Order: sequence, then structure tokens, then C-alpha cells
Amino acid sequence: MKIHRVVLIPGDGIGPEVTQAVQRILEVAGAPLEWEERQAGITALESSGEVLPAETVEAIQRHRLALKGPCSTPISEGFTSVNVQLRQKLKLYSAVRPISSLKGVPTRYQGVDLIIIRENTEGLYSGVENRVTDDVVMSMKISTQTACRRIARWAFRFATQRRRRKITIFHKANIMKLTDGLFLSCAREVQEHDYPNIEYEEVIVDAGCMKLVQDPTQFDMLLLENLYGDVVSDLCAGLVGGLGVVPGANIGDEQAVFEAVHGSAPTIAGKGVANPLALLMSAVMMLEYIAEKRKDESCHEVASRIQKAYLRALADGRKTQDLGGDLNTEAFTEAVIESLG
Ligand code: ATP
Repeated sequence: MKIHRVVLIPGDGIGPEVTQAVQRILEVAGAPLEWEERQAGITALESSGEVLPAETVEAIQRHRLALKGPCSTPISEGFTSVNVQLRQKLKLYSAVRPISSLKGVPTRYQGVDLIIIRENTEGLYSGVENRVTDDVVMSMKISTQTACRRIARWAFRFATQRRRRKITIFHKANIMKLTDGLFLSCAREVQEHDYPNIEYEEVIVDAGCMKLVQDPTQFDMLLLENLYGDVVSDLCAGLVGGLGVVPGANIGDEQAVFEAVHGSAPTIAGKGVANPLALLMSAVMMLEYIAEKRKDESCHEVASRIQKAYLRALADGRKTQDLGGDLNTEAFTEAVIESLG
């Protein structure tokens, strides 16, 4: 059996708790993975003086895969977010966030099955901010044809592979005519030339948010620039049960980093109550990615077993407190392990 080496970044806040739970489930399920642990975020800052040590980046470049817990970055000036740095340094230009209703997690909506694709490297996240005068500060929104075309091509190819029927772009090109205008024109061009069979729709982001909360099932796939992608992902998490049930992948041409959408949730850190499901679902995405990229069917089998196990646990009402259940992290982890059969 082939073993895949994966960089594990436990992160901080609830990160180490949920990472440990996920590692345990993967081990019991027989995932063919070997971990190389590296630091990022506050823990890295304390031990090495940097929020993202070069050795962490190098390890991911070497193994091309990472599973990452949430990492916080000090808010004060001088620190660029770990997540933003990782995405830019490793050219992880596409963020994929599947948003699905889960049986056993009651919400206002049923049958939500949406995939969000977020451009991960530019826009207002370019980090170009200036103090112009004592009164004026500014932040620059950068859009390049290269990145806009790259994410559009990636999204349409992904839609084809996943047999999705429609891509909707959320934008604000009525105000940001050049930057969002470029994002739109690149997507339009890619669809017209290469993917005429995939339905294409443009919706202004504010109206899109309203439509999402009225009826999320009207959307199939969303493609957004960086900031709208960040905000709309959390909004969509709220439609299906919250941040505890939304996984994420940051994918580039060379490497991929899998992480939950939620942050380090410092208010519940250390209490043993965090929900490890979002990171577990991200690990399942990682196994499916390995199965596809490295043609390793065993990863697909383990991914399906884990997925069935957590779905069974949820359907039996065995869930953490954020989902209305009464289990702590450890008890939910055991529930998933028991359901592995
Ligand atoms: P950060 O500053 O790292 O973004 P945050 O607390 O501001 O942390 P999130 O971690 O994204 O933001 O979470 C917001 C709230 O959602 C948390 O305070 C917590 O109540 C809840 N939450 C997020 N993730 C989880 C989880 N895995 N399990 C349980 N509750 C969670």
C-alpha cells in the first residue's frame, strides 16, 4: 500500500483539539497517511518568532499536501495573516468550499448542495495599504487578468468534472467597474469559448446574499473574488448548521492545503467542546483529492467509510453542542469511530 506524507499544522485555539480528533479517526479508519508536524500561527510565533516559518512552507512544497488547523495571526501591524501568506506563497489560487445540508443537523433549509469557489490570491487581500495623510488611509484592490482567467478556467473545469450545471458569479462591477469588471469578463470569455454547456449567471453580490437566504437551492456553484468569497462562505455555512460543518480546500497547480472554514474560536478553546467535523470533512476532501491526483483507490475507500460514519453518527443524533447535541469533542470522535463499523 502506498503511504502519502502529509504536513500537519495543528494551529492554535481549538486547532490542536480538533486536529487530534481527526488524526485519531483517520488512523482507526486506516487512512494511508504519514504525518510531518509543522507549526504556524501563534504557536509558531512563540517558538520561532515568525507566524509562518520558512520550514513549514518548505515542508508543504516537499510533500505537496497539508492538513491545517486554524491559525491566528496577531491583529497588530506588521503581521500578515498566516492564511493569506500560505495561499500567496504556495500559489493556492482556488478555495473550494462545499456547502451541504446534513441529515441530523436541522436548519431552515433542506437540500442545500452548493459549491463555493473563491479566488484566493488577490483583490483586497493583496495587502497593499498606505497611509496617505494623517486623515486618509487606503487599501488597494488588485485584479489581474492572469488570476481572473486562471480561477475562471479552474472553476469551469471543476464544474465539468463534478457534473455541475450552473456557475453564478457574485460581483459588484456596477461600482468597481475595472476590478470586478475584469473578473466578470474573464469568466464570461472562458464560459463562451470553452464551456458553453455550463449555464452562466451574473448576480450583484448584495442581491445575491438576499437570494441565498431566501432560497439557497436556486444556486449550484458560486464563483467569487477573494473578499466576497470569504464573507459569502460564512453566510452559506450559516445556512447548513454553522462553521462546524463546512470543510475547505486551498488548491494550486503544485500543492493543496485542506482546512476547516472556521477560525481558532478562542472563546471555547481548551474546553474540549469544539466540533472536529469541519476538519474531518476537510480531511475527507484531502483523501478524495489524493485518490484522484495520485490514482490511489484506497484513499477513496477510506474517505467514503469516514463520510458514511459521520453521517450515521449525526443521523443518530450523536453530535456536538454547536449543532444542538450534547457531545464533547472526545465523545463525538468516539461516536464516529464506532460508526466506522
Ligand atoms: P478567529 O479569530 O480565529 O477567526 P473567531 O472565534 O473570531 O476566531 P471562528 O473561530 O471562525 O471565529 O468562530 C466563530 C464562533 O463560531 C466561535 O466563537 C464558536 O462559537 C463557533 N465555532 C467555530 N468553529 C467551531 C467549532 N469547530 N466547534 C464549535 N464551535 C465553533
